[in-house]
Amino acid sequence: MENYTPAPNLLAGKTILVTGAGDGIGRAAAIAYARHGATVILLGRTVSKLEEVYDEIVAANHPQPVIHPMDLQKASAEDYDVLGSSILEQFGQLDGLLHNAAQLGPRTPVQFYPAETWHQVMQVNVNAAFMLSRALLPAMMAAPEASLIFTSSSVGRQGRAYWGAYAVSKFATEGLMQVMADELRSTSAIRVNCIDPGATRTAMRKAAYPAEDPNSLRTPEDHMPLYLYLMGSDSKEVHGQTLKA
Ligand code: NDP
Repeated sequence: MENYTPAPNLLAGKTILVTGAGDGIGRAAAIAYARHGATVILLGRTVSKLEEVYDEIVAANHPQPVIHPMDLQKASAEDYDVLGSSILEQFGQLDGLLHNAAQLGPRTPVQFYPAETWHQVMQVNVNAAFMLSRALLPAMMAAPEASLIFTSSSVGRQGRAYWGAYAVSKFATEGLMQVMADELRSTSAIRVNCIDPGATRTAMRKAAYPAEDPNSLRTPEDHMPLYLYLMGSDSKEVHGQTLKA
C-alpha cells in the first residue's frame, strides 16, 4: 500500500468524520483527508488540539473543517443522536467515518486490573464506536457510497499478557467491524473495514513502550497511503477486511 498514489482530488466533495483528530494518527488522517479535498469533522476531547489541526488545514487552503468537541468517555446517547442529525442537516450525508480515538489503559495482569479503568477503556474503545456508528448510519446511508473504518491492533487478533482491556477492546472492535460488514454488505453502499496501523510514533506508543527509540518507528504520516486508499473509492470492493499498515 506504500506504493498507492491517491489522486489529489480523491476525496473532493466528501464529508468525513475522524475521532481523536487532535493527535497522533487521527491528526495525520484528518489533515491527509482535507488535503485530498474532504470537509473533515474533527471530533475529540481536547479543543486546543482540534483548533491547531483546524488552523493547519485552513492555512493550507483545504476545505474548512468543523470542530466537534466530544469526550467519548462521557457522551450520552442523546449527544450521539444530536451529532447524527446535525450532520444530516448540515451536509445531507456522511461519506466516511474513521474510528480512531482510543484509550490504552495500564499493562497489568487481569487479576490486578482496576475495574473502573477496565470500564473506561471499553467505553471509549468499544461502546463509543458502537454508539457513534449507530447514530451516523442514517447519514452514511444517504451517501452514494461510504467508508466506515475501525482501528484495530495486533493485540486484537492474538491476546497478549498484561494488555488487559485494550487487547479485549480491539478484539471487540474486529468483531463489531465484522458484524457490521456482514449486515451492510447487501443492504447498503457502505463498506466496513479495520486498519491495524502497527507500531507508530505517537503518544500512545510512547506510553506503552517508554524505553523505545521513537526514531525507530514509522510516523503517522507514513501510514496515510493506506488511510487514504480505504477512505476513497479506489477501495470500493474492499469489505469486511483488516488491513495492516
Ligand atoms: P494517541 O494517544 O496519540 O491519540 C489518540 C487520540 O484519541 C487523541 O487525539 C485523544 O485525544 C483521543 N481520545 C482518547 N480518549 C478520548 C476520549 N475519551 N474522547 C475523545 N477522544 C479521545 O493514539 P494513536 O494515534 O497512537 O492511536 C490511534 C489509534 O491507533 C488508536 O485506536 C490505537 O489503539 C491504534 N493503534 C496505535 C498504535 C501505535 O503504535 N500508535 C498501534 C496499533 C493501534 P487527546 O489528545 O485529547 O487525549
